[in-house]
Amino acid sequence: MESRRGMNPMTEEESSELAAMRRIQRLSSHISPAMTAPPSLPLVQAETCSSRAKKLEVNGQALSLYMKGKHMDIQEKVYEFFNSRPDLQTPIEISKDDHRELCMNQLLGLVREAGIRPFKYVADDPEKYFAIMEAVGSVDMSLGIKMGVQYSLWGGSVINLGTKKHRDKYFDGIDNLDYTGCFAMTELHHGSNVQGLQTTATFDPLKDEFVIDTPHDGAIKWWIGNAAVHGKFATVFARLILPTHDSKGVSDMGVHAFIVPIRDMKTHQTLPGVEIQDCGHKVGLNGVDNGALRFRSVRIPRDNLLNRFGDVSRDGKYTSSLPTINKRFGATLGELVGGRVGLAYASVGVLKISATIAIRYSLLRQQFGPPKQPEVSILDYQSQQHKLMPMLASTYAYHFATVYLVEKYSEMKKTHDEQLVADVHALSAGLKSYVTSYTAKSLSVCREACGGHGYAAVNRFGSLRNDHDIFQTFEGDNTVLLQQVAADLLKRYKEKFQGGTLTVTWSYLRESMNTYLSQPNPVTARWEGEDHLRDPKFQLDAFRYRTSRLLQNVAARLQKHSKTLGGFGAWNRCLNHLLTLAESHIETVILAKFIEAVKNCPEPSARAALKLACDLYALDRIWKDIGTYRNVDYVAPNKAKAIHKLTEYLCFQVRNVAKELVDAFELPDHVTRAPIAMQSDAYSQYTQVVGF
Ligand SMILES: Cc1cc2nc3c(=O)[nH]c(=O)nc-3n(C[C@H](O)[C@H](O)[C@H](O)COP(=O)(O)OP(=O)(O)OC[C@H]3O[C@@H](n4cnc5c(N)ncnc54)[C@H](O)[C@@H]3O)c2cc1C
Repeated sequence: MESRRGMNPMTEEESSELAAMRRIQRLSSHISPAMTAPPSLPLVQAETCSSRAKKLEVNGQALSLYMKGKHMDIQEKVYEFFNSRPDLQTPIEISKDDHRELCMNQLLGLVREAGIRPFKYVADDPEKYFAIMEAVGSVDMSLGIKMGVQYSLWGGSVINLGTKKHRDKYFDGIDNLDYTGCFAMTELHHGSNVQGLQTTATFDPLKDEFVIDTPHDGAIKWWIGNAAVHGKFATVFARLILPTHDSKGVSDMGVHAFIVPIRDMKTHQTLPGVEIQDCGHKVGLNGVDNGALRFRSVRIPRDNLLNRFGDVSRDGKYTSSLPTINKRFGATLGELVGGRVGLAYASVGVLKISATIAIRYSLLRQQFGPPKQPEVSILDYQSQQHKLMPMLASTYAYHFATVYLVEKYSEMKKTHDEQLVADVHALSAGLKSYVTSYTAKSLSVCREACGGHGYAAVNRFGSLRNDHDIFQTFEGDNTVLLQQVAADLLKRYKEKFQGGTLTVTWSYLRESMNTYLSQPNPVTARWEGEDHLRDPKFQLDAFRYRTSRLLQNVAARLQKHSKTLGGFGAWNRCLNHLLTLAESHIETVILAKFIEAVKNCPEPSARAALKLACDLYALDRIWKDIGTYRNVDYVAPNKAKAIHKLTEYLCFQVRNVAKELVDAFELPDHVTRAPIAMQSDAYSQYTQVVGF
């Protein structure tokens, strides 16, 4: 509050002159529909940037075309439907119960009125499914998640973990929303540790049925989407218990998935033996009805075991093509990576929205300025650029990386190639955790970058932040997922030394490990020319070197500590190191994809804009980790200084094309409906909101 006082003391004459200029500027911005940049390069920038700072003229159309997804047509269909149905748009203020009903009606409208059938695409064209999810999530994130629960989690578990008999019986009902369902994995005592689940499914050979039981309160299924109000079925993950003829009497075959009806198809009453409670009001996503499920000897037919990876015969014999519980468990979870792919992709969508709102506002908003001159756009402050420009560059980086992930996932679903399965598994875990963590932090940065107006609910940061926050936890907690990436890297590292092959995403390790082991080059460590620093080879080598170093070091540390602490203790002792390794690897993959995307862009000015963003992404990351590079003399002091200066310069250059870069996301109007992002008439839009 009152921070202006004392900063720029002005005479009365100066202040009335300024006020008049401001009014003229505002008026002219109302007349021009385009976003107006400040009339001249403000002093703040002129001082910090050299004469090299010429504005790049970008062909916005070419850039937009390059960024356009393959499935814009179906996204347009989603937007058109919701634009034509104001009654299905989520108001700013809505109660939990109304929001849940609205969300269900939105989904019904999408499927039964607009005729968009996402389930077909879960099965046959995942790229299209993710495009629908992105569009639907921009209407209301609760709707995106509700759709994900129905089709990707409940539907996906039936078609991916079950066999033909399940698909034949359930596909149409899931598709048309007659069979609304849940994915009941998490329990009160166990979330991340899925192998620790306690719910049981005991085979009764006399009746040819499984009996589902919640043995104690800790095994109550918790947080289950669609359970509190709308679900009729649940895929329940439970330990399969088979009777045996030995002294133990039963055998625990590990966690399997079962279809359990939870509500009556006609009356919607909860079925006998099933108890359902509401998980209540949440921090966000209140359009989704999360509930808790308890089972008391609920009987289901043997056929309800989703038996793709393990089956039980009429006489209680267990069969599986996979030899061990661990392998079956791995295969089961492996089929569920689609949810993670979707979240990574959707999270980039949220980042695009929030960066767009904050950048458009920052271009328009003016505060302070040199004496006797108009106020400057807040995006001309170096601090604002440092908050938002690396974020804009990262948004592009993650866009290309997640598009790649979605393509690989689709290819994997078609080919079932074993190496690709392993690649997609680690890549989806890594990108999901890395991108969602970044977006969650950026939402707060964007809110702050828009000052007080960023705090008005109508400007969307609050709901975006609250709804998106849980992306970091569900479909696998980010810290846990990063460990899977690190474990995978270590496994491949070990295999490499045993003569094994490295899959595509990891193949860079072979070369960079050799570079790492041969020590940094003292000559190149001093190179500081702009051409060198902007050379993709230097950037990628630096990222790869860091990953190889982290990998080599952590492998040695683990070996040392495991002698005294055992495997679990050694892992825990090195945990932060392992997480840094995983992040470093993911950043390396992201940069490689960005560099490729720049190279493939056909139009020169669009390519140049992307190259600016890509360089900013790379150098900003190197600068943020400069201590690591300096410690091992990979970068000499003069080079570190040059990297810092160039990063600042690139921030400014990207600021100069920020409007074009943001416009190229081509977000539909309803997405940027935040009044502060409404370009030229922002303030009049905004005053209307509060009733003037
Ligand atoms: C809104 C919402 C919707 C959900 N929907 C569903 C649903 O439809 N179906 C369903 O089955 N589940 C659902 N979940 C549950 C969700 O998947 C779990 O919350 C998630 O898997 C994390 O488990 P947890 O909550 O038990 O956290 P925990 O595993 O207890 O984690 C708590 C903390 O401990 C840390 N931690 C845990 N293990 C480790 C480790 N090995 N190393 C280091 N740190 C560790 C984590 O990083 C985290 O910070 C939902 C949850 C929410 C909130």
